[in-house]
Amino acid sequence: DRTVSVSGSGSVSTDSERTPVRVDSQDSQVSDGEPGDSRWPRQNSLSMREWDIPYDELKIGEPIGTGRFGTVYRGNWHGDVAIKVLNMDYYLDDDKTLEAFKLEVATFRKTRHENLVLFMGACMKPPRLAIVTSMSKGMTLYTHIHLRKDKFNMNKTTIIAQQISQGMGYLHARGIVHKDLKSKNIFLENGKVVITDFGLFSVTKLCYGNRTGNGLSIPPGWLCYLAPEIVRRLRPRHNRDQEELPFTDSSDVYAFGTVWYELLCGEWPFKGQPPEAIIWQVGKGMKQTLANLQASRDVKDILMLCWSYHPENRPDFAKLLTTLEKLPRKRLARSPSHPIHLSRSAES
Ligand code: ADP
Ligand code: MG
Repeated sequence: DRTVSVSGSGSVSTDSERTPVRVDSQDSQVSDGEPGDSRWPRQNSLSMREWDIPYDELKIGEPIGTGRFGTVYRGNWHGDVAIKVLNMDYYLDDDKTLEAFKLEVATFRKTRHENLVLFMGACMKPPRLAIVTSMSKGMTLYTHIHLRKDKFNMNKTTIIAQQISQGMGYLHARGIVHKDLKSKNIFLENGKVVITDFGLFSVTKLCYGNRTGNGLSIPPGWLCYLAPEIVRRLRPRHNRDQEELPFTDSSDVYAFGTVWYELLCGEWPFKGQPPEAIIWQVGKGMKQTLANLQASRDVKDILMLCWSYHPENRPDFAKLLTTLEKLPRKRLARSPSHPIHLSRSAES
């Protein structure tokens, strides 16, 4: 069980990485008092020390879209950026929310990987908290699969899955649980996978809980990524004192299984079924049938392993990578006039 525990004292620890990360002025202060650097003004108040990007330097453009926990804007800060402004209407004065936000920013900071979105900084201007990342030029897997109905052949599907596994393996090695792996959070840029929104779920939850107040407020297309141990902990009326949902490395692997299914089938598992029915089935250990899926035994095995009822039976991303590498590849004849678009990392 490798849950990330967030304490109110400003430290985060995971079982896989016992060293707590201190979130204090030392960590987040870039150059307090460094002479000659006017872009990073001397910041005196404690809260200002936590800013990475001064709000005034951010040019916020038009909104791109709204997700569970706020709105993403096109923006400019030394080039094109995506600015995720968290919706904090309800908890803006809440120390716990701020603390959670800082912890997640500290988590974000630790990431440098080809298949992860580039975190550029965070910005805090009451009542707004914002996360600034590089702007993704490509489309999400969600858009490819569910909106454009694009079909990926088996080679391409495998390459995408390998890159997701590489990015996820890196996150897990750093002790970061994604908690919200889904096709909407995976961009495809010229054949390269870029994963976003890792480790942001705690703040998400704080922002969005209690909002509607009627029953289980489950956004569409979310349930099928949730592992049985999480589904079983869903309660109607999310209340803030409630235990955190038990996200782990293994629950990320379950979510990866669902993305693998989407890539193969072009739709979500349990398509068209009401939430109650999905919760009941998943909670009991039932899986989407693969009877109609035309794929090899190995390909289906990956699905079944990732969707294992018991978290300890799910492979980790290192294991998944070796399995994916062993999948038979069709040799494609490459002609110069029809180059296959693969990124360098994908070809290796
Ligand atoms: P969700 O992930 O559920 O779609 P988000 O709040 O994360 O919700 O994203 C809102 C919108 O902004 C989505 O259309 C998403 O594709 C887009 N978006 C998020 N991050 C980026 C980014 N770094 N670059 C480009 N578009 C982004
Ligand atoms: Mg997102």
